[in-house]
Amino acid sequence: MRRTTLHHLGLLAGAVVLVAAAVLALGPAPASASPTQVRVLVVKATWGPQPYTDADIDTVMQGVERFYATASFEKVAMTDTQTPWLDVMSGPMSCLDETQQLPRLASSAGWNPAGYDKVVFLVPDGGQNGCPSTFEDPSGVLLNGAVPVGAVIHELGHSFGMGHAGLLTCWYEQKSRLCSGDPYGDTSDVMGGEGGSNVLAYVGDFGALQKARAGWLTPRYITKPGTYRLAPLEVASTLQQALVIRGTAYEYWIDERQPVGNDAHLGGPAVTGFAVHRISEDPFAPGADPLMPDYLVPNAHSSSYYTAPGKTFTLPGVFTLTALSRAHGVMTIRFRWLHSQA
Ligand SMILES: [Zn+2]
Repeated sequence: MRRTTLHHLGLLAGAVVLVAAAVLALGPAPASASPTQVRVLVVKATWGPQPYTDADIDTVMQGVERFYATASFEKVAMTDTQTPWLDVMSGPMSCLDETQQLPRLASSAGWNPAGYDKVVFLVPDGGQNGCPSTFEDPSGVLLNGAVPVGAVIHELGHSFGMGHAGLLTCWYEQKSRLCSGDPYGDTSDVMGGEGGSNVLAYVGDFGALQKARAGWLTPRYITKPGTYRLAPLEVASTLQQALVIRGTAYEYWIDERQPVGNDAHLGGPAVTGFAVHRISEDPFAPGADPLMPDYLVPNAHSSSYYTAPGKTFTLPGVFTLTALSRAHGVMTIRFRWLHSQA
């Protein structure tokens, strides 16, 4: 029962606290399988204030459910039930007390959180007592703020085993390449978003690595130099949506975004080419932290994070990836090792 405090969503300095509980393990499903039903209980607990109406919460949860249906290629069918405001708290609670007591308080009011796949606890803003936005593994999620759709998607994402979407900034010092990472730095991804700004602005889709962790797509590990095809990560495809290269210290996951599905509103560099994400170890290894962040890696030559057709991404001393072409959203990419591993 690891207790993980993962982050602050600094802009969510508002009105409520959410806790999502009961992690559901989802395995890969064949495309023809019926969707996995994920039933969410939204418990509204209070000591008096009732900052949201049922209709407010319905609107938020409908947005969340649409996002998950699209992100999972219709492999997840999320539905929710919300309680009325339950007057079960004597006043604002500490973070720890919320985590420990809210399930019992809901039960005392006649609701059974354990009977659902995930639980979101919604509590009025407790002022100084408010929790940072947190995923409690495996018992749930705490959000302190309003209930923006993106924040609910983000915290529930952790309950599917997804980590943060980060970004590396790299520079040269005496010919050595040094990098530092921001675990929220991928502003195109709902699991990143610079500590909250994009979460509030409603986000982009989960990256291919995180979708693989949730069991929604199967990556292809490549070791041989050659030419590979890569389909966008937002919509179902019979082609690969994640290519993975194992280096000695890291795995490199290659994916690409198009302005479709949950990314329909995306523009700018993120949809111009493929991206390379670094993760510290095999995310599927036994004992691997499921919430481990991945990091967008800049091209050594241009510092760009996205490699458009005609350009080459170079990871110094390790490999190059050249975007040969893109047709109907599908990229053709040439992979070469830069050392003798191949
Ligand atoms: Zn998070």
